[in-house]
Amino acid sequence: MIATPDYRALLATAVAEARQGLAEGGIPIGAALFHDDGRLLGCGHNRRIQENDPSVHGETDAFRKAGRQRRYRDTIMVTTLAPCWYCSGLVRQFNIGTVVVGESVNFSGGVDWLREAGVKVIDLADQECIEMLGGYIAANPDVWNEDIGED
Ligand SMILES: [Zn+2]
Repeated sequence: MIATPDYRALLATAVAEARQGLAEGGIPIGAALFHDDGRLLGCGHNRRIQENDPSVHGETDAFRKAGRQRRYRDTIMVTTLAPCWYCSGLVRQFNIGTVVVGESVNFSGGVDWLREAGVKVIDLADQECIEMLGGYIAANPDVWNEDIGED
C-alpha cells in the first residue's frame, strides 16, 4: 500500500474517460479501478447512449475491464461522480475498500450509505468534474433523468 495515494492523480484517469465519453456523444462520467499500490486495473466510462445499454456505467465498465481480482478490499474505485445505487451496490458486493469521487454536487448517489457501511469515501469536489457533468445535464435533462432512473 502506498502511504498517501495521490487521489487527484488517480482522478485524472477517470476524467480522461469522461471526456472520451463526451466526445463519443455520451454522458460524461468516467471511472477507474486501481490497486492501492497505484496499479491501474481497469478504466471505463458510461456508454448508455453509445451502446444503448443502461447497465454500462463508468464504474461497472471499469470493474469489468479489470477482470477477475482475488480480492477488492485493497482496491480503489475512482469515479468522476458519486456512484449511483447500482454502482454503490457493486462496491459493497465486492467489498471495494475505498471510493474516490470527483464530485457529489450534481448527484450524491449512495455516498452516505457507503460511509455507513465502513467504505472509505473521499470526495475531491473537483471543479472540472462539476462543470463537465453540470453542463451536460443542463443541455440534456431528459437523458440525465433516464440515467438516474427519474421519471
Ligand atoms: Zn452507476
